[in-house]
Amino acid sequence: MTRIAFIGGGPKALFALLELENNSSTEDPAGLRIDVYDPYPAGAGRVWQSTQPLALRLNVSARILDSGSPPGSGSFTEWVSRAEPHYGNEVYPPRAIVGKYLQEQFGRLSQMAPFALTHIPVRATAVVRTGDQWEVSSQAGTCFYDEVVLATGHGLPGDRSGTELPWACNQAPLIGQYLALEEETIPAKSHVLIRGAALTAYDVVLLLTEGRGGQWEETEKNGGVWLRYVPTGREPAKITMASGSALPMLPKSEHLPEPIRSCIDSYRQPLREWGSSLASNSSGTGEKSTNMWRILLACALECAQLMGSPVTPLALWRTALTGDPGNIRHDESARQTHTDSAANSIRHSIAVNRHRARPDTSWLWARVWSGLYPEVVQAVSRVSWSPASSRMFQRISKHFERLSFGPPELTALKMLALFDAGLLEQDRFPESPPLNAILVNAVTPPAGVLTSAAPEGQAMSPVIGGLLAAGEITVRPGERGLLTDVDGTCLDVHGHRNESLAALGRPTEGPTLGHDTLNRTLHTEHRAWAQRIARLRAHEPLEFIEQLGKGP
Ligand SMILES: Cc1cc2nc3c(=O)[nH]c(=O)nc-3n(C[C@H](O)[C@H](O)[C@H](O)COP(=O)(O)OP(=O)(O)OC[C@H]3O[C@@H](n4cnc5c(N)ncnc54)[C@H](O)[C@@H]3O)c2cc1C
Repeated sequence: MTRIAFIGGGPKALFALLELENNSSTEDPAGLRIDVYDPYPAGAGRVWQSTQPLALRLNVSARILDSGSPPGSGSFTEWVSRAEPHYGNEVYPPRAIVGKYLQEQFGRLSQMAPFALTHIPVRATAVVRTGDQWEVSSQAGTCFYDEVVLATGHGLPGDRSGTELPWACNQAPLIGQYLALEEETIPAKSHVLIRGAALTAYDVVLLLTEGRGGQWEETEKNGGVWLRYVPTGREPAKITMASGSALPMLPKSEHLPEPIRSCIDSYRQPLREWGSSLASNSSGTGEKSTNMWRILLACALECAQLMGSPVTPLALWRTALTGDPGNIRHDESARQTHTDSAANSIRHSIAVNRHRARPDTSWLWARVWSGLYPEVVQAVSRVSWSPASSRMFQRISKHFERLSFGPPELTALKMLALFDAGLLEQDRFPESPPLNAILVNAVTPPAGVLTSAAPEGQAMSPVIGGLLAAGEITVRPGERGLLTDVDGTCLDVHGHRNESLAALGRPTEGPTLGHDTLNRTLHTEHRAWAQRIARLRAHEPLEFIEQLGKGP
């Protein structure tokens, strides 16, 4: 018998188990037992709890969500039209509904899979090697396993994150549970200062407005539909979203013009070739990212020409390096507030998406980066960058993330309506927050496993801290995420494959890219892990039968 422990039972664990189901033979005389440790409901995990408020919505199109087995049978679209028809036509349904789906998929798997699957609803506190096995400690006691998979995602409340804010009304990151934002803590008419201006900050704003009964009314302006906010009187008097740059996230483009789509497609192969050349010409002194930026810049320029946009290579490069959307000038001398420039920038992006304004540098980069993201993810995984290229990659990819993976248009329209109502402001985070403001920390723990880059960074969770101290896993200097092989197998402190210990998803971010997603096909590690286990299993029954033949 083989025993496997998953530490973490969110979507990544579910996707890996679905792949294992697809790869497993229905007859497995030696037996495979899998325990999934997670204090939250398995499948949904902490992020997708089905009890969270309905105002919080999925941020990508629900069409990408498929935890069917095999893929294509039992997608979210299929499930929702049957189980929650009310949300059947919604591209961005509530996260609670997505959680219900993921939970049900785990439930189905635990009944139908050709292996024994058990959810153990507790936190795992340590994973320690004992001979050929792993000893997993938890509030449920101690158990021994042949294989362990670390799929801890965003971690657990109480983990260290390096982003703590002592005076905030929430001490745990705002992930899946939002009791800290209720009216007893944040009364009507108060002043709320949110640290962060990304998607979690948008969640806070929505919970303090729509979540308290506020309504949205459609209005027609300049030939397009916009929103107006109708308050209830239960919302704060003022909400300020504050970040280092005061720059907004820009809304997604819901419909990509066909010429842009084909242009982006024509750059997939050059990027793949560049990725393969990295793998084959490794210099040992660290790879340079220059040629990748050249390919992406050429694609952005060609898209600009196709759309009749007069942007220059210099303007594009400036946006890549600074993150400044380049569509609206922020003019402090004209007493323009950060709120004005954020609102104008979002308004302009919506106008471009609606084909009522010419594409600017930020729109072009957003289309190129999100369009070629699968190729970039494949090409840069596990690359050992030169220090300069590493800094450049981290800087530009952070800016592109904000430009490319922002909210759906509807959420952006809601933010604009709140700016217009004078209820919402955007600003820089002040050095000393005003005493009369209620502070909300909307910065989530960083991706990876360390609070900051190695070697200085501290392990965020005790499980990771213990494994790092024992040399079972490793983080390269300058990175925060675990170094793994293509099938998720962890590399140990000596750079050797640590067979039987794997990590999937966000803990590996850094050497890998883009794990913060429900997209099951963007990465291949979970599939390769399942294939490795299935291969091991295919050999094990023979050994098992041989052992039976030998007798006691
Ligand atoms: C607020 C929020 C909104 C998001 N919205 C979107 C979206 O709209 N679209 C999208 O594609 N992605 C979104 N994401 C990204 C999200 O991370 C992924 O969609 C997905 O949840 C990643 O799955 P995962 O299993 O890797 O990590 P997680 O979902 O974080 O799951 C990891 C699990 O591990 C468990 N765990 C951690 N440590 C331990 C331990 N020691 N013992 C036991 N269990 C442990 C946790 O409880 C958790 O359930 C969002 C993320 C957040 C935080």
